[in-house]
Amino acid sequence: GPGLYIVATPIGNLGDLSPRAAAMLAGADVIAAEDTRVTARLLAHIGAKVPMLPYHDHNADTVRPRLIARMANEIVVLVSDAGTPLISDPGYKLVRDARAAGVTIVTIPGPCAAVAALTLAGLPTDRFLFAGFLPAKAGARAAAIIELGAVRATLVFYESGGRTGATLAEMAKLLGNRPAAVAREISKRFEETVDGTLENLAARYAETPPRGEVVIVVGPPGEAAAVDDATLDAALLRAMAVQPMKPA
Ligand code: SAM
Repeated sequence: GPGLYIVATPIGNLGDLSPRAAAMLAGADVIAAEDTRVTARLLAHIGAKVPMLPYHDHNADTVRPRLIARMANEIVVLVSDAGTPLISDPGYKLVRDARAAGVTIVTIPGPCAAVAALTLAGLPTDRFLFAGFLPAKAGARAAAIIELGAVRATLVFYESGGRTGATLAEMAKLLGNRPAAVAREISKRFEETVDGTLENLAARYAETPPRGEVVIVVGPPGEAAAVDDATLDAALLRAMAVQPMKPA
């Protein structure tokens, strides 16, 4: 029936598109897509022709009310370029407003790079924190890493290949030399997961940045690896000097 359908799509291997996801895409009245060119390729793969509307960070505020209005009597499908919508991708506000409007909301679960990387890393999975992309600016970045350092859980980060070495080095400095793993190109031809410690992975990727898309998984803090308070205070002060924190 009419409503909002959140459809997960492959993160590399088209074979990971579930039959239910394919049926939802083919049967939609309209597909809200992050990049319609990317979704057009997926539709071609399953031989479906469905009208699409771009829905991304730059037009979301204008497009959202129109999509919500259509959900009353049409099947509206939300996809992102790859993986699960809303996970470091647009969609949270669409679901929030659809919920407020009393729309039927259904999810078609599927690939997600964060969960896939957790299954590969060989690190504890009983408690994990999804940290997504770190802030780009140096100060905010250091402050975020320090804050996460206190969390007693495995940490999961999204990163681009080119920045992996520098990010791992910064983590080693601020989190201590924890066990970690880097998973890249999951489900694609050059899929590779390398495990080690933050320090030796930082050294490895400083020389040869991994190509493509990367998930960094960092083990929880161990008693022995804990960073002392003085080091953290000094790093936090440096971070605040670079970018003063705004009052809440
Ligand atoms: N919504 C997506 C999901 O469910 O995983 C994530 C979208 S986010 C904009 C893109 C990031 O996800 C990449 O920078 C990378 O960190 C990670 N990623 C996506 N596909 C990947 C893959 N095949 N292998 C490793 N990491 C991947």
